Amino acid sequence: MTAIAPNTTGRKLGLVIDLDTCVGCHACAVACKEWNDGGHMAPLTDEDPYGREPFGVWFNRVHAFETQPESGCGGGPASTRTVHFPRSCLHCEQPDCVTVCPTGASYKRAEDGIVLIDEDQCIGCKLCSWACPYGAREYDSHSGTMKKCTLCVDRIYNTNLPPAERRPACVMVCPTSARLFGDLGDPGSDVSRRVAARGGVDLLPDLGYRPVNKYLPPRERRAAADTAPLPDAPGGADIGQRLLGWVDRLLSR
Ligand code: SF4
Ligand code: SF4
Ligand code: SF4
Repeated sequence: MTAIAPNTTGRKLGLVIDLDTCVGCHACAVACKEWNDGGHMAPLTDEDPYGREPFGVWFNRVHAFETQPESGCGGGPASTRTVHFPRSCLHCEQPDCVTVCPTGASYKRAEDGIVLIDEDQCIGCKLCSWACPYGAREYDSHSGTMKKCTLCVDRIYNTNLPPAERRPACVMVCPTSARLFGDLGDPGSDVSRRVAARGGVDLLPDLGYRPVNKYLPPRERRAAADTAPLPDAPGGADIGQRLLGWVDRLLSR
């Protein structure tokens, strides 16, 4: 069993994922694979990619769930809602994926809390993947080693990149800014303030892994009157007035 040097780290670099604004486009997953294919964990192999049962190594996966509120607006019938849920390593403060590792290949960095794998020491026993309740470990059958999200450690400290680009690839590419990166150990950081303001949550808190990454829950939808279908676009003599009113309603949705 491997001991984790620090029980907690001062800096806690991680991600905040906004489930309200994620549109499930998978750009983050693809950008992650592309960046890491050329990085130190490369290659992220694919098997039978055009076959009936393709399999590949992805550090970030996006799942879609359909939810059904108990009742709709005003007590009327509820409408379903799709929530998109990106999933990658949460860089837990109590990562049992590290403590079960028999070789010390899995480790958590004291300086920033990032959980990494030393591939030279990994024997591919998969114990860490069984210990991870979030399904964040990825076994690469080509290399015979385990891989996972590195929090793009090779981007965020890369002084060859402009400062604005020293962020994870998945954060850089997200078209809705549903992914944020920062120090969750600093209560004054942008990410910490966003978590406080939106009631950010841990995944599976009862397990005690204390994930650094946080999820911002989806917001309530507005009342039915605000989301009623718009009438058809106007025509006729009073088109100016009616068009302005229609655009106004459209933009204020
Ligand atoms: S890129 Fe952003 S919006 Fe698209 S799936 Fe990922 S988190 Fe969601
Ligand atoms: S999410 Fe899983 S792989 Fe990542 S640190 Fe936590 S237990 Fe380990
Ligand atoms: S932080 Fe980097 S390695 Fe982790 S999911 Fe995002 S792009 Fe992939």
